[in-house]
Amino acid sequence: MSFTNELLNTVLRHAGQEVSRKEFLNLAGRGLAVGVAASTLASCQSDGPAKATAASTPTTGTPASEVDASTVYTAPSGQQVPSSEAVSPPAKVPAGLDKPIELEAWKSDVDPKSGPVPTPLPPDKRVGYALVGLGHLTLEEILPAFGECKKSKPVALVSASPEKLKKVAQQYGIKPESCYSYQEYEKLKDNPDVQAIYIVLPNSMHAEYVVRGAKTGKHILCEKPMATSAKECELMIAACKQANVKLMVAYRIQYEPYNRQVRDMIRDAKFGKVKYIQAQNSQSSANPDHWRHKKALAGGGALPDIGLYCLNTSRFLLGTEPTEVFAHSYSTPGNPLFKEVEEMMTFQLRFPGGIVVDSITHYNTHDSRYYRVNTERGWLHLDNAYAYTGQQLKTSHAEGEAKMQNQITIPAKNQFAAEMDHFSECILENKQPHTPGEEGLQDHRIMEAIYQSARENRPIKLTEVKGTDVFRGPEPKQA
Ligand code: NAD
Repeated sequence: MSFTNELLNTVLRHAGQEVSRKEFLNLAGRGLAVGVAASTLASCQSDGPAKATAASTPTTGTPASEVDASTVYTAPSGQQVPSSEAVSPPAKVPAGLDKPIELEAWKSDVDPKSGPVPTPLPPDKRVGYALVGLGHLTLEEILPAFGECKKSKPVALVSASPEKLKKVAQQYGIKPESCYSYQEYEKLKDNPDVQAIYIVLPNSMHAEYVVRGAKTGKHILCEKPMATSAKECELMIAACKQANVKLMVAYRIQYEPYNRQVRDMIRDAKFGKVKYIQAQNSQSSANPDHWRHKKALAGGGALPDIGLYCLNTSRFLLGTEPTEVFAHSYSTPGNPLFKEVEEMMTFQLRFPGGIVVDSITHYNTHDSRYYRVNTERGWLHLDNAYAYTGQQLKTSHAEGEAKMQNQITIPAKNQFAAEMDHFSECILENKQPHTPGEEGLQDHRIMEAIYQSARENRPIKLTEVKGTDVFRGPEPKQA
């Protein structure tokens, strides 16, 4: 029984009557319950029992019997709609902003549960982010995602374009004095609104801006790929350690509910042990002048940009680390897009226990982003696995003579908001991020072995890593 209902019954018991929850809701729906409680309480305090049917509404004092008939709302269409008195149905409102309000339940367990009521931090308690680089990802995904954040807010911008700075600052309510050019980057140090710097620049600039950013004493969230080499990753990790700031790589997939669901089903051996995974991440590009097609700025082609999702997500799903890679790469001769970076990379990763991950990534095919985890007793197939939205999870397994094929639907979440809020939580609670610099470094070590394998046309052994999730920090909270 809810607190409100209990209170109501206590009041009415004093008045010599018992009201069931159904009756209460019925009364509430007719705008009477509050009046009943209020007038009964008043009569308990004065002359003893009162009759619920004789109750008055608390605001107007109109006799209850007249409320239904007299309160009519005229809709814009002219339709006369019977109106109800506004009431708050029973709810538990715990003290503490981090505790969700528990609204009255009305759905049966036949339907999926909705999640708890969100518990956003008040704006002045949220972690303030400086966004460095105002390109596609920042403008199209990250800044809009702050609207769904509960612990993070944008407070500063860094860009070479004064026009972009002015416009974006106005759009997102960022102070003009919190807008900086790249030359003024170090001034973030003196901005008390900024606790975290989010690096969203071309890959080759990540190392420099993480190292310089760490010196400002602010925590750093860095886009993937972490850098253009394992060596750079090591320098970035060391710089953040030395400055005593946190470093997280923005592996949004590890915060995305469908990918986490697959991970949990695999780890629980829902359909037996994993045997092999097929993974594909492909898209098409057309601008040879873009930094993604310049080796010095991108570090590589399809592999570090999108093939990395196949690599990092497989490691995340399995929890273990590959022991060997074998790769093949191709670029169409004469295509200016692929003069400097690879068009296609296919790579096989061997994991402990004989598990094989077979991946392909392509810069010159229609958008296709999925993986299938093949297990002893079934498979799990995630379409749009690496996309920003639209994940579709299908599973198959046998039950007797039947082949059971299911589509699993779970509430979607904005991956960028989930990832930023996790980093904010790490800052607020002084925790290690789930995807720290070490997680990015391991990917770069493996990508270097993939390139070597493709160059030398032979399998490359990787340094053996024992244990599970050894490069990851604690699990993110799922609130
Ligand atoms: P983009 O080209 O749209 O934006 C890059 C920004 O960097 C632009 O504002 C540009 O002006 C600025 N910049 C500064 N110096 C530059 C220089 N010398 N050359 C080119 N640009 C320069 O790129 P993007 O798609 O926003 O990617 C930025 C980073 O985010 C990359 O590291 C990319 O891998 C990563 N990314 C991640 C995801 C994801 O889902 N997590 C998606 C897309 C991009």
